[in-house]
Amino acid sequence: MEITRLPALSDNYIFLLFDPQKKIAAVVDPAEAQPVLNCLNRLNAELVAIFNTHHHADHVGGNNSLIRHYPNLCVYASEQDQGRIPGQNVFLKEGDQVEFSDRKAEIYFIPGHTRGHIAYYFPPTNTENSGELFCGDTLFAGGCGRLFEGTPEQMVNSLSKLRALPDQTRVWCAHEYTLSNLKFAVTVDPHNLELQKRVKEVEQLRRENEPTIPSILGIEKQTNPFLRWDHPALQETMGMTDPVRTFAKIRGKKDNF
Ligand code: ZN
Ligand code: FE
Repeated sequence: MEITRLPALSDNYIFLLFDPQKKIAAVVDPAEAQPVLNCLNRLNAELVAIFNTHHHADHVGGNNSLIRHYPNLCVYASEQDQGRIPGQNVFLKEGDQVEFSDRKAEIYFIPGHTRGHIAYYFPPTNTENSGELFCGDTLFAGGCGRLFEGTPEQMVNSLSKLRALPDQTRVWCAHEYTLSNLKFAVTVDPHNLELQKRVKEVEQLRRENEPTIPSILGIEKQTNPFLRWDHPALQETMGMTDPVRTFAKIRGKKDNF
């Protein structure tokens, strides 16, 4: 399974999964159709599936047009998002598995950003040494999604599930927000040397107009304040120890940053 990152809209990424033997492809969160169609053309591939993480327009905007080009598409999304995903014909819940090519993804139910948000996690195989996590707008590189339809408690619970995955997991989040996220992160975790190092690396990448996605989950665990609600350093700057309240306070500060 090869993964291609397609920039879309102003700062979205669409991810195209490709099986070069079978010449089939799947797409995660097609914000728009044209970049996907161009890529399929280039690869001479047939689109067989859309994997949607949640119902926001910048994640499902290309669904209808792709379905017109490929009427037999499987359109996967959460059962909680029934009625909100154009063309949805598979309704997923926590623990379900979906197949693409020779890989199987496990479904994680991760509400908080929206009430139906899910993630697709492809565990590592013998031939590939990293797992692949497609987590939409829940976990970002250096940040997390806003709480539009969920509570801090739900989000901590959701992020806990992602945090439990192996360190080498590649995090394919849906937006290029990393630099602004890290600029906020240093304000709440000012003594974190790993974080300071990461800011410099990301600044360099962005100066060269290079993407920062995928990121590596092990680095997120060390530098992303939204995975560190129970770390003494964050609890100290927030002035509290309760994990959910600490998380909520960090999220509130970010909302007003
Ligand atoms: Zn969203
Ligand atoms: Fe989004």
